[in-house]
Formats: sequence, structure tokens, C-alpha cells
Amino acid sequence: MSQQPAILEYITTDSVAPLLQQLVQTRSYNPPGDESAVGARITDWLGRAGIEVTRQVVTGGRANIIARLKGDGSQPALLLCAHQDTVPPGEAAWSRDPLGGEIVEGTLYGRGALDTKAALAGMMVALQTITQAEVPLRGDLVFLATVDEEANGLGAQAYLLSGGMQGIGAAVIGEPTSLDLIIAHRGLLWLEITTYGKPAHGSMPDRGVNAILPMNAILTKLARHSFPHTPHPLLAPPTVNIATIQGGVKINMVPDLCRATIDIRTIPGMSHAAILAETRAIASEVAESWPGLTIKVESLNDKPPLVTAADNPFVLTAVEVSASLLGRAPKLRGAPYLTDGSLLAGTTRTPAIICGPGPETMAHQIDEHIAIDEVVAVTKFYTALALQYLQS
Ligand SMILES: [Zn+2]
Repeated sequence: MSQQPAILEYITTDSVAPLLQQLVQTRSYNPPGDESAVGARITDWLGRAGIEVTRQVVTGGRANIIARLKGDGSQPALLLCAHQDTVPPGEAAWSRDPLGGEIVEGTLYGRGALDTKAALAGMMVALQTITQAEVPLRGDLVFLATVDEEANGLGAQAYLLSGGMQGIGAAVIGEPTSLDLIIAHRGLLWLEITTYGKPAHGSMPDRGVNAILPMNAILTKLARHSFPHTPHPLLAPPTVNIATIQGGVKINMVPDLCRATIDIRTIPGMSHAAILAETRAIASEVAESWPGLTIKVESLNDKPPLVTAADNPFVLTAVEVSASLLGRAPKLRGAPYLTDGSLLAGTTRTPAIICGPGPETMAHQIDEHIAIDEVVAVTKFYTALALQYLQS
């Protein structure tokens, strides 16, 4: 076990709890998707810690918050990323105020306390600790607080498209994992299929081209289809879910339009382009027996799986740092959910781990809460990992 850096002693309940409380008390529900207040709070707090912050406008008033502690440039940067938005509190009654940030016996309550403002606070305190200690770094330490993770990942997409991943050698995505290290999750491909027929009076169906019947044939084939894949030891198999369907206007008309959406979850090794091509081939095959029918298959959302090899040097470093803090080897596993790591690390094949406090089963629940001890522990982990990665 490696020796723990001395500056970790400065990371205590008093350094993380007030910040987490402020973040939880600042509404950033998505929907509707407005992170401006929490973004301003993050900017102010980092500014007061002497850290330069930039806003990356994503859409409308929504902006990623980015901070960078400069290294001497002799090695690649480390990215710490967590999202600013939370899901709304929902319809069910909470026993505590979702925006209260109330602390009861070492547990902090509120929407986002776990997913993922705890990780956000931990990363911010890690930056502050390293800045105050004036630790020289070889590579840059980059902090990214994204918008819109709980919907379409617009923040991660904007960061990726702006070239933000250039020079990044490894990434940590902050999401609830009970401090386990997650090194893989599935990707997704959302498809929309539209069939265009020809309208006619319902009493003379042979004069039209019914758009619903071929859609039915396509969806039945798709639901039975197995896209080629090799099982992944840490992940559930790929899945196909026929999600929505709309078609037809009136009972006495032949429907000339039908539209369906399909949610495909993929595992590493599957090509999304090949899945799209296969789906188009299935649709074309059906179209052959429907003269006058046109079919369009389009991708609505395309996020690759995330996978980092268990023996990747960055993962080995993270395991060593975590073991030294926890006193036991951390669990390496896959996650059922998708993260900003899909676009940021999956697309660029950057080694990444997902790690944060609290169990993912508590995410999006009523009375969401987090044990402050675990937030302190993860803050130490982010800090020690950054030092280990950026100083060796
Ligand atoms: Zn989250």
C-alpha cells in the first residue's frame, strides 16, 4: 500500500458538508433543465478558492463550468467530471424538504444529495485542497461540471465537440457507486422508424397503402432479432425495447403514416453503424412486399458503451489509491446506467472510471440522502488519485 498524501488531513466533514449543503439547496431540476443558479454557485465557490473558471455556453442560458489547474505540461491531463442537474423531486411526498440540505446524524438529505452533487462537491474540494497546498503537477487537472446529463447529455456533447478531451489522458466520472470503481457500462442507440403509405377511404383499403401493417412486420422481426455480440463479463446482454408507436388518423381512413421508436442498449464490441444498417436491411426486406411504401430509419441518439480494461494502468492506479484509503481492495464492476463517460471517454477511448459516494439504487428516489463520511472518503480519493496520476 502506498503512503497517503499529508494534505488529505485537511479534508474533513467541515470542508465538504457546507458546500454540499449549498449545492443541494440550489435547484437544478431537469426537467425543466435550468442549471444557471447552481452553475453560478460553483463558479463563485471555485473563484473564492482562487481557481480560474470558464463557462462554456451549451444552449440558451445553460453552461458547463470548467476549471483547470495547470501542470507543467510534461504529461497528459486528468479530467474530473460530474453533472450539475438533478431529476425533479417527483410527485410522491418527501419526509424532508428536497431543497433543504438538512443534515441529520451525519446524513444529508435532498434531491441530488447522492446523484450527483456529492461527487461534484468532492471534486471541487479536491481542486481547492490541491490549489491551497500549491502542489506542483506534471499534467493539468481539469474539472468539468456538465449540464443536461439527466436528459440528453448536451453538456458532455458540447464539451466533446469543442475539443475538450484533447490532451486528457484519463477521466473520473462522479456518479453514485458506493465507492466501487466502475469500468464499464452499456451504450445506447435510439432509432426512429417511419413508414409512409398512401391514404384512402376506409371502405376501399385496396386503393391505399396501409402504413401500420408493414410497421407491425418490421417491429416483430426486430423484437426477435439478435444483433451480433460477444458477451461482456461485467455487463448485462444487449437489449431491444420497442418503446413508442403512433399511426393512423381516423377509423374510416387507411393510415398513410406510422412512426415507432426503439431503444437499443449495446455492449462493447457492437458497432452502432452496423446495427443501423441491419435495421435498415430488415425494413427494406419488409418494404419489398409492400408496393408504394417508403420507409425511413433514423438515429435519434447514439452513445457508445464505456469500457476500460481492468489492467489499464489508470485503473491499476485508481485501485491502488482506493485500497490505500479504504483499507481493502475496491470492487471493480459494471453499471446498469449510462453516464457522461459514454460521450466523453467512450467516444475518445479515454481510460475512465466512474466513482462516487452512495449506492446507485438510491438515485432518483424520494428522501434521497448521502452519508457525509462517504463524501469525505470520496473527496480524499479524488484528491489522492489526482496527485498520484499527475505527479508520477
Ligand atoms: Zn447522475
